Amino acid sequence: MQSILTINGGSSSIKFALYQAGEPLQRGLFGKVDRIGLSGTNLTFTAPSGNGQGSQRITASDHRSGANVLIDWLEKQDGFASVAALGHRVVHGMKHTQPEIITQDLLDELHRIRPYDPDHLPREIELIEAFRQRHPKLPQLACFDTAFHQSMPRVAKLLPIPRRFDAKGVQRYGFHGLSYAYLMEELARVAGAKVAQGRVILAHLGNGASLAAVHEGKSIDTSMGFTPTAGLVMSTRSGDLDPGLAPYLARTEKLTAKQYYEMVNHESGLLGISETSSDMRDLLARETTDVRAAEAVALFCYQAKKWIGAFAAALGGLETLVFSAGIGENCPAIRTRICEGLGFLGIELSEPRNGQNAALISTDASPAAVRVIRTDEELMIARSVGRILAFHAVNQKD
Ligand code: ADP
Repeated sequence: MQSILTINGGSSSIKFALYQAGEPLQRGLFGKVDRIGLSGTNLTFTAPSGNGQGSQRITASDHRSGANVLIDWLEKQDGFASVAALGHRVVHGMKHTQPEIITQDLLDELHRIRPYDPDHLPREIELIEAFRQRHPKLPQLACFDTAFHQSMPRVAKLLPIPRRFDAKGVQRYGFHGLSYAYLMEELARVAGAKVAQGRVILAHLGNGASLAAVHEGKSIDTSMGFTPTAGLVMSTRSGDLDPGLAPYLARTEKLTAKQYYEMVNHESGLLGISETSSDMRDLLARETTDVRAAEAVALFCYQAKKWIGAFAAALGGLETLVFSAGIGENCPAIRTRICEGLGFLGIELSEPRNGQNAALISTDASPAAVRVIRTDEELMIARSVGRILAFHAVNQKD
């Protein structure tokens, strides 16, 4: 039986999962290497069908060495020999609209566009190259987080700066596309194809957070932009800021471009406002005793509400709102606060359903349905790889 390996490289982690090909795909062994480049780097894994978990201390100063340790370990595991293809999450894919087999040309292009996403792309390239070097015959596919939003109309892509930058690719791309693609497939499964073709707002609220407006199954707008730093306030990213802030801070605080980048990506958002934690659970636990935590939570909910209002306007109405990711899936209090006052958009939450994180959390009478769907980016990668393998198998037969 063939299997598919998924690789999702984060800023200090590499998540992996093996899926047995078939309909539906079955997840087997999965795990992650985390704390790469830090002390206490670990490889943790869960064996298929709950047959045990394990953890081992490893040494990995960067993603390339982390990938090599992971490959050494994977080669000894049952199931690795049957891997037919490997799918990577690639955060930035410029104009690519579909998952693609990684050729030398695509790899060269990823190298060329590295400056667009210096936080993710260099590490993702290291992972691809490490697997390519060790297993050159194994097909690798890139599944782009930007692809879902390539359907956005030009007006949602344009940045209002001098036009010459647009020609160089400086425009709004949007991210979290693997999560959004998965949520749309799940929405069609649980609520029917007609609902998924309607006016839908997807709220992916995790450490990274964004919303997308989807109509007829296609993204028409999203809150992230040229980079994942844009849009809604996040755990450590600022989200949208006044463009006048950067030159002001450069003038008055002598902030360099690098310091500004660090600030808006790693020191801002919930962490920056609360001065204590980037984690929503910590902030909720502290909000009655620490005004900074309360303000961070309030700002997050206020901004999410504004994005929902903006996207309902862009869509010309709202039929379904979907909450997802760590905060969206698990936190009734935040969903309540975001939806408060949105009765005019037809949103009416059922507090008992919301409190249970039920699949449908709106009342039966609510004109707009509000749903909670657990996202699964790895499964979306595996599905995409499976479809491409099936497509090639059929085409080879013809
Ligand atoms: P990432 O974007 O890194 O994948 P997640 O989707 O796991 O992040 O989301 C992490 C966020 O979800 C954190 O802010 C965490 O506090 C929050 N979260 C997870 N579980 C809960 C919960 N039960 N209540 C409130 N927030 C939660």
